[in-house]
Amino acid sequence: MDMQKIGNFLTELRKNKNLTQEELGDQIGVTNKTISRWENGNYLPPVEVLQILSKFYNISINELLSGERLDCEHYKENAEEYIVVDLIKKRKEAKKHIIISFIVAIITTIAGLSIVLLSALLDTFIWLKIVSIAFSIIIIILGIGVCCVLTLDAGVYECPNCGEKFVPSMKDFIAGAHTLTKRKLKCPKCQKKYFCKKKLS
Ligand SMILES: [Zn+2]
Repeated sequence: MDMQKIGNFLTELRKNKNLTQEELGDQIGVTNKTISRWENGNYLPPVEVLQILSKFYNISINELLSGERLDCEHYKENAEEYIVVDLIKKRKEAKKHIIISFIVAIITTIAGLSIVLLSALLDTFIWLKIVSIAFSIIIIILGIGVCCVLTLDAGVYECPNCGEKFVPSMKDFIAGAHTLTKRKLKCPKCQKKYFCKKKLS
């Protein structure tokens, strides 16, 4: 994505309508400074604004992001490019989530177990032992919860029977027996439970 080109294009579109940065800002509800940042290529307008601008200038978001008006052939090419960029970004994020969730799982398990061990070994009051063991169990459960949210978030599962890709509900996800890469889940299409493989995108 060429930010400078997008900025120049935004400037051109605005000037074609004979608007100052201030006038445009008034129309779409932002300050002239914000408009200036977009036109300088420092920032990309957020998606909601891209939608507004696309209607305002009667131009597609694809064209706004390409920094030019597109003919049919280029239009297709560019649209595909953005989809690919988006997919790569999602895949990277998914991988990051999985790594973080492993780290969280390891840390919370170690923390929880060491509290249990310590309280068992130390010669202290019974109630203190019970409290610390309860505390560590809570830590472990919370840790597992965070992991579930993070890994559920990352990617989809594929039904081995029909190939349907789906995101399971949190309840199914937690209840499902699993290996490192597969989890027993109900396919929304077949309505049967299979060991579904995790796909990152
Ligand atoms: Zn299926």
